[in-house]
This record gives sequence, structure tokens and C-alpha cells, in this order.
Amino acid sequence: MTRVQLIGVGKEYPARGKQAAPVVAVDDVSIDVASGEIHAVIGYSGAGKSTLLRLVNGLERATSGRILVGTDEITNLPESRVRVVRGGIGMIFQQFNLFHSKRVAANVEYPLIVAKVPPTERKRRVAELLDFVGLSDKATAFTDQLSGGQKQRVGIARALATNPGVLLADEATSALDPETSQEVLALLKRVNSEFGITIMLITHEMEVVREIADRVTVMDAGRAVEQGDVFDVFSNPKTETTKRFVATALPTEPNAAHLEELRRRHRGKLVTLTFRDGDVDQPVVFQTIADRGVGVSIVHGGVTDVGGRSFGRLTLELIGDDLKIEHAVAALAQHAELEVLA
Ligand code: ADP
Ligand code: MG
Repeated sequence: MTRVQLIGVGKEYPARGKQAAPVVAVDDVSIDVASGEIHAVIGYSGAGKSTLLRLVNGLERATSGRILVGTDEITNLPESRVRVVRGGIGMIFQQFNLFHSKRVAANVEYPLIVAKVPPTERKRRVAELLDFVGLSDKATAFTDQLSGGQKQRVGIARALATNPGVLLADEATSALDPETSQEVLALLKRVNSEFGITIMLITHEMEVVREIADRVTVMDAGRAVEQGDVFDVFSNPKTETTKRFVATALPTEPNAAHLEELRRRHRGKLVTLTFRDGDVDQPVVFQTIADRGVGVSIVHGGVTDVGGRSFGRLTLELIGDDLKIEHAVAALAQHAELEVLA
């Protein structure tokens, strides 16, 4: 069980060439990842996510701030000690980074050889790990005979070989199709729940955050612009960057073009209701509308799961005479967050 703390961390790369300015890849970022938590870091390409992970595993040195992995302050350890701390950190990558010339079992065994684990113990551990990721029957295959999802499962088995307390995943599902991506995320969830391994996971896909993370940090141009419990951030995004990410993974209000299209097809009054974690009693909502003698159809939106809680946004068309609709809207506003679409 390992906590990871980043406290005011910065990373600046020196200018390349005379005209160029230095690049501030990470700018004053603080993240406290509790032991056993799955923490996602999301941001667009170039936001500084990969740099941040390389700082955590000590492959690069921060230019400011402090990073603690467990009780080890990696930011001021000599390289020889950093290597020891890195032994307690597993890494998986978008491109898997496997040895193509080695068989599956040998890939998983490699970190155990580096850690000088005796051969019989190595064989036992490799068998156990391949069983855990469901690849026992592929032990003697070469990695280029495997599908992308299988390769990433080998990557996960290898990362777990030395029993790390922390697993760092850099776009681990970005090269996979959606279905395979789901399988790998489910496996990472098992890694977290069965072994209590803390996971820091970097992604540019909000869907990944929604599926698996407990908490999330949104990065933009090197800075952490938003942070918190996944459900809270999703259901109430504050910054433009977060809003754009959330829109890719949650039911939204219709955008301007879509609204115009909806109006062409629907003559009634359009309203959007937001449902957060069962805070709205849906039968009451629909009964309220019916009680006012108003008809209703759902024209846009849906309900989805975020961090094990439900989030919904439904755009309804209310049909009937103006006064009845006005009363229905007033009554609805007592029961749910409601927006009348202008
Ligand atoms: P992300 O993973 O979010 O796409 P990166 O951490 O890879 O972002 O990069 C953040 C910024 O730092 C980018 O502007 C990138 O060009 C720059 N950068 C990354 N690594 C280096 C490096 N070794 N030298 C100089 N600049 C770098
Ligand atoms: Mg990256």
C-alpha cells in the first residue's frame, strides 16, 4: 500500500537553440494519491502528463517541488536509491514496450531476473502472474503473435512481477479498440482491488476516467486546472477544459446545431433535466408532468454510471397548452435541476 504525493511540482526543459524559450512541461502541480486509490490524470496532448509520470518514477528530476512515493522523497534521493524506489513502481505503456525476441514468459520473468530472484521462485511467480492475467496458455508464444489486448496483459503481468505498491499507466488503453480497452481496464481494476495497488493512470479519454478512476486531475498546459472525486468533477465541471472532456463521456445538453434540428422536429417546449446520483425521483418527475395535463417525450440525453453513481441528463419535449406547460415547468423545478432551452 503506497501513497503518492506531488507537492508543487515543476519541470522545465531548457531551451533548445538560440531563439527557443525553455519549455515548462509541468507547472506547480500538487496531487495527493491515497494508498489504494485509482487516480486518473487527463489532459490533451502536450499537457504534461507523461512528463509527470516520469517524474514520479524518477526517470526525470523535477526542477521544483517534492514527490514522495510512500515515505521515500524521490526528488532528493541519489540515483542509486531512486533505482531501489523504482523497484516498487510498476509501469505500463501505450506501445506495451515488450521484448519481441523473447517469449511471453521470459518477458514477465525479466524484472525478476533483474531483482535477482532465484530461478525456482521466478518460475512459480511467472506461472502465477500469467494465470492472473489469463495468459497461461500463451507462456511460450512470442509477443508478436499476440493481439494488442494480450500484449497489454503481458505488460501488466510484467509490471506486477516484483509486487509493486504503485502502478503507473501511460495511455495504457489508447492503442486498443473499445472492447479490448474495456477488458484491460477491468483487469486494472482487479489489480487495484485484489492487491490494493495504488494506480496513477494517464489518459486523454474521459471514458477511461469514468470507467475506473476514483479521483481525477485535469491538466492543461502543465497545470492542474481541476481535481477531485470523479463523480463531483463529472457532474459539475468548472473549467472549459474539463467541460470539453466531460462532454465526450456524459449525456449533454444538445449543442446549438442539434437544438435547431430538434426544434424543427418538435413543436413543444424543450427543457433539460439533470439527475445526480439518485437526487431526483424520476417517477415523481413524470407524474408531475402528467398531473398538469401535459404530454412528454424524451428527445435527447440519457443516464450513465460515473464512479458507481448515476448521472443523467434528459431533454424533454413538453406538449400541451401554454399555461399548463408553464405550471408543469414550475412544478418540475421543485423536483429537479431544470433548464428551459431558449
Ligand atoms: P503529454 O504526455 O500530456 O502529451 P508531455 O509530458 O509528453 O505531454 O509533454 C509536455 C510538454 O513538454 C510538451 O510541450 C513537450 O513538447 C515537452 N517535452 C516533453 N519532453 C521533453 C523533453 N525531453 N525535452 C523538451 N521538451 C519536452
Ligand atoms: Mg503522453
